[in-house]
Amino acid sequence: MRWILAVVLLLAVGFFVGQRVPFVQNRVMDKAIAVQLTNRGHELLEQDALRALLCGTASPLPHPTRAKACVAVYAGGKFWIVDTGPGSWNRLALTGIDASRIGGIFLTHFHSDHIGDLGEFNLQTWAGGRPKPLRVFGPTGVERVVNGFQEAYALDTGYRTAHHSPEFMPPDKAEMLPVVMEDMQDGEQTVVLEEDGLRVLAFNVDHSPVKPAVGYRFEYLGRSVVISGDTAKSSSLEAAAKGADVLIHEAQANHIISRIGDLARQNERPRAATIMKDIVSYHTTPEQAAQSANEAGVELLVMYHLIPPPPIKMMERVFARGVDEIRDDGWLLADDGLLITLPADSDEIEISSR
Ligand SMILES: [Zn+2]
Ligand SMILES: [Zn+2]
Repeated sequence: MRWILAVVLLLAVGFFVGQRVPFVQNRVMDKAIAVQLTNRGHELLEQDALRALLCGTASPLPHPTRAKACVAVYAGGKFWIVDTGPGSWNRLALTGIDASRIGGIFLTHFHSDHIGDLGEFNLQTWAGGRPKPLRVFGPTGVERVVNGFQEAYALDTGYRTAHHSPEFMPPDKAEMLPVVMEDMQDGEQTVVLEEDGLRVLAFNVDHSPVKPAVGYRFEYLGRSVVISGDTAKSSSLEAAAKGADVLIHEAQANHIISRIGDLARQNERPRAATIMKDIVSYHTTPEQAAQSANEAGVELLVMYHLIPPPPIKMMERVFARGVDEIRDDGWLLADDGLLITLPADSDEIEISSR
């Protein structure tokens, strides 16, 4: 027993002293840098499956680790982004992504928790060697959002070109190109992109008074993923999600939101109480998301854009109260880094995390 204690003590002292020795520090640092420089995300770009990675699962309410709304879809050797919530570039970059392989960005609507990192996505993928300007698809209004971000980043772009040379950081490739989609009727689906075997359709959702607000359906190699954006329970979404493999749906736990509102009132926080009251109407509860998933006949329901984002495991259970009664299997609450892999022409759904 005594020798075990001696070994543990020796290791602890070695670890403590080692961290302060430059030689050891350098070895550890080199190893960590090598891991970062290896493109760990490369296998996600292989053209053998449709993949979706949750790069942000929170909502406007704060959370210590979750970024705000963002989904990365990997298809045709590129990655495509649905919404760029604050913090989402950082979360995606941590997966070791090759920034130059971005295909484009799809915005669902223009609330800040969906667009905050747009400038960052543009800048970082340009700096990472993106060969073309960045396409940003969205409903009417996308041109205004894109132009605003472009202007806000204009000085930064100029500094970097001046610093690294125009050959290395070509200013014309730093641009974003807004692609405005035509207005649609509820229940209608419009093809907004067909490229490298990937087909993307858009459809209206119900986020009133925010109009237009849309969701997207991605189809590739016989597999499909539907992303809701922000919506109250929507029959237009249910129609667009028919038979999809995966539905990534927003969710707001109104039973918790009401509780926050009550406690805010009791604690003399009337602004917070008013906001909690106002937001109840334009999102979907976890139970309603489960109903929509059943209605559409999807295999897997993934809830994201969680309002409020659960801070601990116990709160995830509180959040999803009642869902099991509606859908006893085939659903989960997403965490940042959740990866869903849908191998070509099969029924398999692989779930892992990055
Ligand atoms: Zn919204
Ligand atoms: Zn939102």
